[in-house]
Amino acid sequence: MMSKEMPVFKNDKKAAKFWDRTDATEYMNKGKLEESIWKEVEDRCDNCGSKMKKKLDDIEFHNNQVTIHKVVKYRCPHCGKEKFSTKFKKEIPLIAKDLVEMALK
Ligand SMILES: [Zn+2]
Repeated sequence: MMSKEMPVFKNDKKAAKFWDRTDATEYMNKGKLEESIWKEVEDRCDNCGSKMKKKLDDIEFHNNQVTIHKVVKYRCPHCGKEKFSTKFKKEIPLIAKDLVEMALK
């Protein structure tokens, strides 16, 4: 099976919405999870280049049936853009895989 390219989400709502309607197994191909995908600088805003502030947030999946607490996110004080920590983005496919497996039980 061909593996799709991992999208980059503007905010957690978009990410949650995406995983709500996406088969995470399409993203399981290891080759797509190489370091290069996440090489952006951790606390720099992709939008305006400002230093972003770290914050903890809860994100919800599967119509709020599953909540992941204290996810590390960054928020840009200049333009308001938010992004997940690189570490969390690497974990997203693993989390999504668990959710898919839960859904099948
Ligand atoms: Zn910004």
